Amino acid sequence: MEQTLIIFKPSSLERGLVGRVLSRFESKGLAIAGMKMMQLSPEILREHYAHLVDRPFYPSVVASMTACPVIVMCLRGVDAVKVVRAMTGATDGRQAAPGTIRGDFSMSNQENIIHASSSPEDAEVEIKRFFKADELFDYTPVAMRFLYADSELQA
Ligand code: ADP
Repeated sequence: MEQTLIIFKPSSLERGLVGRVLSRFESKGLAIAGMKMMQLSPEILREHYAHLVDRPFYPSVVASMTACPVIVMCLRGVDAVKVVRAMTGATDGRQAAPGTIRGDFSMSNQENIIHASSSPEDAEVEIKRFFKADELFDYTPVAMRFLYADSELQA
């Protein structure tokens, strides 16, 4: 089943929003496959945000992402990457649609609560970046038959 990487950014920890955001993912039916707290370094951010390192705002992003520890999480579900990106909303919290995490909790292009992988290919690389194999757990929630039709699980 598809997996995606979430980072609860310092904006969610400092503002006490981790529980409310995580609750949305749990209520949706996504399974937590891995979860841990860590302090990000400029080195790991240089990899993770390689597409942004030349942008003028990059130093500010690094300062923001290293301001306090973050929580990294691997979520699992059918089409998990697309579902979580839709729940996350547009990058800029002021533009993000109401009902999305950023639309409901963020007023900022930078301080936007969570990171979520943007494609299945990115998710695979990002999960390996933040988790060792033995930190991820492949269990089947007992409620599975009430989360999906059998045909959706076979697809
Ligand atoms: P997303 O997080 O929606 O996938 P990007 O990969 O483009 O977006 O950017 C990564 C992160 O860098 C954003 O979530 C945000 O925190 C920060 N960021 C992006 N663009 C800007 C900007 N113009 N000004 C400040 N921070 C930005």
